[in-house]
Amino acid sequence: MGISADMGAGFQRLRELVEAVARCGRNTPGHGVSRLALTEPDRQAREIIAGEMRELGMTVHTDACCSLWGVLPSSGKGPGVIIGSHLDSVPEGGDYDGVLGVAAGLGVVRDLLSVPPRPGRPLAVVVFTAEESSRFSLACVGSKAAAGRLSPEDVRRFCDGQGVTLAEALKNFGGHPEALGQEIISPADWAAYFELHIEQGPVLDKTGDDVGIVEAIAAPTRFMLELEGVQAHSGACPMALRHDALTAAAEVILAVEAAGQAEAKFGSVATVGVCECRPGAMNVVPGRVTLKVDLRGIRSESVARMRSQVMAKAVSVCGARGVTCQLTPYSSDVPVAMNAELTALLERICRERDVKYRRMPSGAGHDAMFVAECIPSALIFVPCRDGVSHSPKEQIEWAHVQPGYEVLREAVKERLFL
Ligand SMILES: [Zn+2]
Repeated sequence: MGISADMGAGFQRLRELVEAVARCGRNTPGHGVSRLALTEPDRQAREIIAGEMRELGMTVHTDACCSLWGVLPSSGKGPGVIIGSHLDSVPEGGDYDGVLGVAAGLGVVRDLLSVPPRPGRPLAVVVFTAEESSRFSLACVGSKAAAGRLSPEDVRRFCDGQGVTLAEALKNFGGHPEALGQEIISPADWAAYFELHIEQGPVLDKTGDDVGIVEAIAAPTRFMLELEGVQAHSGACPMALRHDALTAAAEVILAVEAAGQAEAKFGSVATVGVCECRPGAMNVVPGRVTLKVDLRGIRSESVARMRSQVMAKAVSVCGARGVTCQLTPYSSDVPVAMNAELTALLERICRERDVKYRRMPSGAGHDAMFVAECIPSALIFVPCRDGVSHSPKEQIEWAHVQPGYEVLREAVKERLFL
């Protein structure tokens, strides 16, 4: 699928913007970009994007949570369309996570303006603040705020590694943390939200599909398991008399994997990401092990089944081994469905344009999950090489991004002229 003569400028500009933003917070070669939220590199990236918004004739403003909005004034009435994503990165992250979605939004605006008539409804591009949890241990800060899910008290609770609170950082960046909760995205103003994002997983790269239409965003259920056995001398304690916390933990870890495999047909996944063994000496039978478990899925009942399967196995394994097991819950979030009408619209456009696509879940969280609480929202995935993300090795093929970009543009166009 080639770039049509009348609408090629937007995609070309998208590439230039991604390259320009990637220079903000660029580390030494091989170390990617470090553009943590509300830092100087973040400010530089926002300046590039705000400049482009102005050049396109958009009105630029930042909200109480420092999210950057460019709004294209419209002649007509009726709720408009928002395209958004984020510009902040993890430490030593890649060039495309988030940035691609913001730049795609501005590419779409450029393309739509190049062919009359001018959109009859408002069109906005938004850069949400601090989508990554890297700096403040809180993800999707800007989109949570825009959904009315962040209070002035909340932002005083979170702070970065230097002890700067999120509230202070917002204030220093020109935000108004005391006004959080006053501006919420309203269906009276906005009819739809679209976000384009790299998949950050290997599915599209493996299947050869160019577009992923996200049906739902998985929510994590997280908990800690503390296994306590009996610490002993590794030479003097015979095998039959041991209560080894680590061998019990090994069985529990395999049970977590088995639970994930049993529910894989529903798109669920299960991971033990942390295993701390104490005292951690070669000549000591481990007395205590801490496991941190992360279960995710787009169906609550599937996540619940994994959780009970893991707990049943942990109880029986520990009981048989004379080890105690204690559970501390961290979080249990609810999966978020994307809007069915918008996913159907995206699917129709893919079919019409002969784009290879698949419907799929998102394992990772995105700003779209909070915007979806306010207005109909859709998330479009494009492939990234080997599914690698949050890494300097993050890479895309522009030829495989272009179909997703064009699907986004056509979907936005349909909603604006509806
Ligand atoms: Zn992202």
